[in-house]
Amino acid sequence: MSSIANKVVVITGASSGIGESTARLLAGNGARVVLGARRKDRIDALVKDITAQGGSALGFTTDVTKREDVEALVTGAFDKHGRIDVIVNNSGIMPIAPMAALKVKEWDRMIDVNIKGLLYGVAAVFPIMQKQKQGHIINIASVAGFKIFAPGGTVYSATKFAVRALTEGLRMENKADNIRCTMISPGAVATELPESSSEEATRKDLREFYKMAIPADSVARAIAYTIEQPAEVEIDEIVIRPTAQDF
Ligand code: NDP
Repeated sequence: MSSIANKVVVITGASSGIGESTARLLAGNGARVVLGARRKDRIDALVKDITAQGGSALGFTTDVTKREDVEALVTGAFDKHGRIDVIVNNSGIMPIAPMAALKVKEWDRMIDVNIKGLLYGVAAVFPIMQKQKQGHIINIASVAGFKIFAPGGTVYSATKFAVRALTEGLRMENKADNIRCTMISPGAVATELPESSSEEATRKDLREFYKMAIPADSVARAIAYTIEQPAEVEIDEIVIRPTAQDF
């Protein structure tokens, strides 16, 4: 993975799951990772771990629903390293409930984190990547961005359909600036995500469904594969799910 070495990679939602695994894998291959999430204790522990193993990592408290936090994360990475090669817009939540339950606050939250948070990531890196005439925006979507995950995941699916539209539109708009755009769409991955539902009965069902889940490292490897391609090679989409998963 020689082309990963020294790349400056910003990752949102790096405090657990896919973000954390990706940070470890990329840093282990020589990338300089810059990590953000709200749980700063987890970010600090991860930075310490990566650094102790000889890697380069920097951590920030980042709530992606706050544009200024995302700007501070990207500015922090730029100030330290003088460039941004990759952003992995990974932060996401999946509170599952039927529409009729009217969990409007959870709808708002999903839109704020899964869509607006991702857009803030794009807005923060964009001027830098345009100036560099090089960059790579990786957005984490879901298989629920291809098929509507209903009942229960309708709003979640809507946010991931939005990620799909945004990633493809970005790609089409920014060819001239040499900015690569990639969408990674995982199926069931063993992380804390199913625990973001507010009702215990739903969490219990999801735990059952997630018995087939694949490790977060499998998604991290897919992400790494897209990064290590030569600059003129853009991998647009990867769908990765457990072999046993139909949906
Ligand atoms: P985790 O719950 O383990 O990780 C989610 C990450 O998002 C955490 O690091 C969390 O950090 C962060 N996050 C949540 N809210 C915010 C916020 N407001 N600001 C900043 N960060 C936030 O789940 P996964 O690793 O599975 O999720 C990563 C991505 O993968 C998500 O976009 C998810 O939708 C997607 N995905 C996951 C699948 C799965 O089966 N696991 C399947 C398909 C897609 P903190 O709480 O510290 O802020």
